[in-house]
Amino acid sequence: MPALPDSPSIAAALGVVRERIAAAARAAGRNPDQITLVAVSKTHPAAAIAAAISAGQAVFGENRVQEAEQKFPALLATHAETRVHLIGGLQTNKAATAVRLAHTIETLDRPRLAEAIADAAQAAGKSPTLLVQINIGDEPQKSGISTAGADAFIRAMHSRFGAALQGLMCIPPANLDPAPFFRRLVQLADSHGLPIRSMGMSADFEAAIAEGATHVRIGSAIFGAREVHGK
Ligand SMILES: *Cc1c(COP(=O)(O)O)cnc(C)c1O
Repeated sequence: MPALPDSPSIAAALGVVRERIAAAARAAGRNPDQITLVAVSKTHPAAAIAAAISAGQAVFGENRVQEAEQKFPALLATHAETRVHLIGGLQTNKAATAVRLAHTIETLDRPRLAEAIADAAQAAGKSPTLLVQINIGDEPQKSGISTAGADAFIRAMHSRFGAALQGLMCIPPANLDPAPFFRRLVQLADSHGLPIRSMGMSADFEAAIAEGATHVRIGSAIFGAREVHGK
């Protein structure tokens, strides 16, 4: 188990991250209010999330449906303003749980998953906000729709889901300058009129904000290092 950061250190780390987001926004001539911090709490216990909520954090990211299902219903019962974003690869057999639990699914990346989400949304009588994950570096080991297939897939998702489709998400290749990849995601979102651009993690969120991120997904800079799953 990773050492559990105590509540004061989570609150302090959140404060530092918020300051860095605001500074990056101002440096880019943007309003810091245009950027949503998604605090990535995967692998961290509910107590760490509760500490972040106490420090004013409302939006959280998890990459596994089952783990989110264990941690969030109790937190949502007492903190109704909390929002859950699913940011990990989603199996079709988890779509129903994902639709019930999540306010945003950031990893829509293939037609079969779209069908499972659409069926689940109809059954649940509600649809989460949806982002299409783009494999922006066309890396074979990464999930997301290929850049070549992106236009057609985004158009299909728009006709399938209408206004629930709100944006794009990406994880650029490691060990390369992320800026050109962020730029490409923003261009793609612009060309489809999609307002949400989820990009940037602990190591590169300032570059993402400079290129136009509306959502940054930040884990280790807030909660500390992870030891186990959840790359
Ligand atoms: C884990 C994860 C993050 C957060 O990564 P950090 O480097 O800890 O900030 C962001 N996005 C996705 C998709 C992740 O899986």
